[in-house]
Amino acid sequence: MNMGYRRIASWAVACAGCVVLLNFGSSWGADVDGIESSGVLTIEGDSKGVSPRKSPATKAKDATEQRPKSTDKTKRPAKDKPENDKRKKKEAADKDNDEDRLAPGVRLWPELSAEDQKKIIAEHKDHLKSIQEMFPQLRFNFIETDYFLLFSDLSPADLRSYAPYLDAMYKRLLTLFEVKAKTNIWRGKALIIIFAHNEAYLAYEKQKQNHVPPDGVAGLCHCMGNGDVITSMRVTELNRKQLAAVIVHETTHGFVWRYKTQARIPGWVNEGLAEHVANLIVPGFRARDEQLAIRGLQQFGQIPAGFFQAPGSAVQYGLAYNLTKYMISANPKKYKTFFVNLKNGMTEEESLQDVYGIRRDVLVTQYGRAIGIPNLRLDPRDAPAAVAKP
Ligand SMILES: [Zn+2]
Repeated sequence: MNMGYRRIASWAVACAGCVVLLNFGSSWGADVDGIESSGVLTIEGDSKGVSPRKSPATKAKDATEQRPKSTDKTKRPAKDKPENDKRKKKEAADKDNDEDRLAPGVRLWPELSAEDQKKIIAEHKDHLKSIQEMFPQLRFNFIETDYFLLFSDLSPADLRSYAPYLDAMYKRLLTLFEVKAKTNIWRGKALIIIFAHNEAYLAYEKQKQNHVPPDGVAGLCHCMGNGDVITSMRVTELNRKQLAAVIVHETTHGFVWRYKTQARIPGWVNEGLAEHVANLIVPGFRARDEQLAIRGLQQFGQIPAGFFQAPGSAVQYGLAYNLTKYMISANPKKYKTFFVNLKNGMTEEESLQDVYGIRRDVLVTQYGRAIGIPNLRLDPRDAPAAVAKP
């Protein structure tokens, strides 16, 4: 089967490499039957009320900032009094938006006025018009929703069928990251361009994005340095739902790019989240790879080398998905804080320490226990001591 693909044009800024591999069966755990994972989803540091430890870097950061530590809330009683909820929510929101918590060099995306947005959306529409002008022999259709501009030479009905998937994705992400409803996270709106004709797709990528897509890829998300997000796709032999899942996956990368700051996050987090959302919107999209991933963990007893640097196969995408699902299911608010920390410029190691009080190897151990593989371990090459900070 073919695959989706995401890259960043050379003049844009990458958030993470991405190859949405759908070529079922890699050398890692590919030749075995899938199994179901366990539904036990807790992160032990939480359930036992263990006070998280902090990395030296985080301690130093907190010492200079003199601000409430995110670990504070883990020390609170498990059941908060209702009257405190409002205040705590406000504190959490203030902390999330606190520029002083950003690592050096990390900047929040600038706020855009309604007038700015109107102007930018007009520019986005001009970009789409220029595509029609490039291909006068094709008839493109256009749909504008609250947060997306969809454009395609598919029929209007076909194009319209993808809009609900994007709306559902957007709603899920706002909920997960506790972003106020009806917030527009985009610069203007996100552009979703779907080419029914491969020649047009290739010409667009080359002429407008300075990019040559590899053979057999379905699409990608261009995450631009100015904040623009363009998901461009081509229709392949993927069926409608599979293509919708890839569009959701890619556009989730765009959301990650636009969330708070331009900071890059680890590939396994980015891919895991994109897969998680794609599978929420199109259930079962990554089920086979997920099952193969768990079977592979059972067979080999360790996370494949390099996974934490960048998931490199369809099965590793299944693993990123399952691990992310585990973390979110265990405690969505902590996952959100883990993610916010990354977007504030913390390393994965610092954020794991800050939120969960654990290192990567302990995360793997706890995850292994949750899926019924109690001795699961990291590949020694990915052990925390060997992790270089970006
Ligand atoms: Zn991806």
